[in-house]
Amino acid sequence: MTVAWGQRRKTNSMDEISPENWVYIHYGLILSITTAQVVVVYLLRKSTHPPAGLTLYTVVLVASFLGWAGLTLFHAETIIYAVYSSAYALVTIGFLGSVVVEYQRHLIALATEDPLTRLLNRRGLSEALNVSLATAARHSLSTSAIMIDIDHFKKINDNFGHDTGDLVIRQIAEQLSTMARGSDTIARVGGEEYLLVLPDTQLNAARVLAERIRSTIDENPLLVNRQTIHITVSIGVACVEGAVNLSELSESADRAMYLAKRGGRNRVASLEHKPVQITTETVNT
Ligand code: GH3
Ligand code: MG
Ligand code: MG
Repeated sequence: MTVAWGQRRKTNSMDEISPENWVYIHYGLILSITTAQVVVVYLLRKSTHPPAGLTLYTVVLVASFLGWAGLTLFHAETIIYAVYSSAYALVTIGFLGSVVVEYQRHLIALATEDPLTRLLNRRGLSEALNVSLATAARHSLSTSAIMIDIDHFKKINDNFGHDTGDLVIRQIAEQLSTMARGSDTIARVGGEEYLLVLPDTQLNAARVLAERIRSTIDENPLLVNRQTIHITVSIGVACVEGAVNLSELSESADRAMYLAKRGGRNRVASLEHKPVQITTETVNT
């Protein structure tokens, strides 16, 4: 009894997907991907950065859809209709797929990038350093870190306003990017704090770069919103050989940076086993 009922059900459901119904399924597919495409184009047009060529692409897709509707209404030959329909469906699905991929890329950038400076954030930094830190561990290479903090930044916000403060943070980020080598990785790791990680670099070489950064910023006042702003930075340098724990290295550079602050700011300091070394004067800790 049960088998006979099951067989009847199977036959019924096969009957339901008759050639005529396949046509409706096909219409449904074309209309739903077209609706999805219209929604996506509408949202992209309203977004803050609509992709280039969106208008042209919209025109092409609308014309393609009208072509498909024309072929449907005027009962074109099956083969022409099938080829046109498939091409239209593939182009539309490709368009929707490319939007999803682009959106995913955007989300990844948001998770790893600082929106103000476009530098990496902490998460982006550790992802970017995966390969070079593994190489350092394998070949026992030195890796250095430079922590940079703008001096008295609260006063810059107070005197010039928060927006100007933002521009200062961005300009310093640009200066750091021009001073670093291609192999160095830079991140914004706090409000007005930046971390440079220098693969295959000994402490002394890192201190030389840190001193160059300090003096360049000190000697070149920024021009922000037609105002000249003199900035100084305090810098901490740390170095480790072989396997690197990024947060430990960054904490060491941070502690060295606080020594530079305590030493009077606008200077470079590094933590070595002992004694403490500071560029311009020694601090009693
Ligand atoms: P110092 O480092 O020399 O000890 O003094 P400071 O005034 O820089 O000290 P602190 O690090 O405590 O202050 C940093 C200030 O930076 C506090 C906060 O209001 C400001 N700040 C943090 N993030 C941003 C930002 O994105 N934009 C602006 N404009 N200001 C920020
Ligand atoms: Mg500061
Ligand atoms: Mg700070």
